[in-house]
Amino acid sequence: MSEIPALHALFGGTFDPIHYGHLRPVEALARQVGLQQVTLLPNNLPPHRPQPAASAAQRVAMVKLAIADRPLFRLDERELQRATPSWTVETLAELRLERGDRQPLAFIIGQDSLLSLHTWHRWQDLLSLCHLLVCQRPGYATKMESAELQQWLDAHLTDDTTLLHRQPAGLIFLADTPLVPVSATEIRQRRRRGESLDDLLPPAVTAFIDREGLYSE
Ligand code: ATP
Repeated sequence: MSEIPALHALFGGTFDPIHYGHLRPVEALARQVGLQQVTLLPNNLPPHRPQPAASAAQRVAMVKLAIADRPLFRLDERELQRATPSWTVETLAELRLERGDRQPLAFIIGQDSLLSLHTWHRWQDLLSLCHLLVCQRPGYATKMESAELQQWLDAHLTDDTTLLHRQPAGLIFLADTPLVPVSATEIRQRRRRGESLDDLLPPAVTAFIDREGLYSE
């Protein structure tokens, strides 16, 4: 029997803009789980969200600037190359086909996304395609909103990170990550009010926002 391929972890988001609330929890998660690489997947027209303020090219440029000195991260632009909305489940199905049934795959989300996961397109298929690795996010409940959803979560939980590397999909890991109270919404609002963005995102990304005059109205 050949060796199991290394766990492939993906982190989707609008990244409008990318900020320390994305980067720092995922860096801590990677240390806990032993991830060598995390692939950032910027969304195209996230179906359940208002349209991004920055263009796809600007969001990609900001991701590139943010990860230039962070070798953990790489960028996959596949969702932006499609004309249709990017359903996470479809991207994961595509990756599963590309990499085969034995490939351990994980999708990283914040606690807020875990709480609203049941609103995602074909959410119940997600765990047949990947594991879910959940980062803590301040200000969000730690319990699911209904007993049924909590049961679903409990049935898939593991705290054994070795299983995430051995099994191809099906587990949920709640990581012990730093609480980073930053959101892209807050960054856009602060910019509109002319307030400082210091400590919220990498300086190279702030310089890009300044240069492009992004989020100022
Ligand atoms: P917006 O404020 O525009 O809704 P956002 O800051 O939530 O954006 P997204 O790009 O929508 O950022 O988030 C992508 C992923 O990152 C989601 O899974 C979200 O839960 C997670 N995430 C975003 N900010 C944080 C944070 N501060 N801590 C932990 N996870 C986060």
